Parts: sequence; C-alpha cells; structure tokens
Amino acid sequence: MTGPGQDCQDVVELVTDYLEDALDPDTRSRVRGHLAECDGCEVYVDQMRRTAAVLGAGDPLPLEPPMRDRLLTAFRDWAADRTPPS
Ligand SMILES: [Zn+2]
Repeated sequence: MTGPGQDCQDVVELVTDYLEDALDPDTRSRVRGHLAECDGCEVYVDQMRRTAAVLGAGDPLPLEPPMRDRLLTAFRDWAADRTPPS
C-alpha cells in the first residue's frame, strides 16, 4: 500500500517526461489519473508546462548587463567629475 504522498512524489519525478510525452502509456495514464484527483499536482504540472513553454520559446532574453554596466560606469564618471576630492 502506498502512502498518500507517493503518487504526488511520482508526479514530481515524472513531470518532465510527462510534458515531453516521453512516458510509456501505463505511466502516463497513471499520472493523468492522479492529476484528475489531485489539485496540488494539477497546478504543479500546469506551472511546469508554462515554465517549459517559456524556456523552450527559442529566443533567449536579450543580455542587458553590459548596457547597465556602461550606464553605471558613465554615472560614476559623471559623479566623480562633480564630487570635489576630499
Ligand atoms: Zn498529487
């Protein structure tokens, strides 16, 4: 007999394969059956699906740090110009 949390643990372990449709039919139907009766896992899988969709969307986010660094450097130079040495 499995404890109440065992199925949830399985879902957490299988969610990646589940979303990639990489599970064998028996396991997939077991996961689906559990999602139908467990709100927590349903939400979890839904979040994972969205995250996977964002990560798999292709274009990586533009890298902003260089621009930010340039601005910070420019500001530091500007501030140094205006701050009398003490
Ligand atoms: Zn669950």
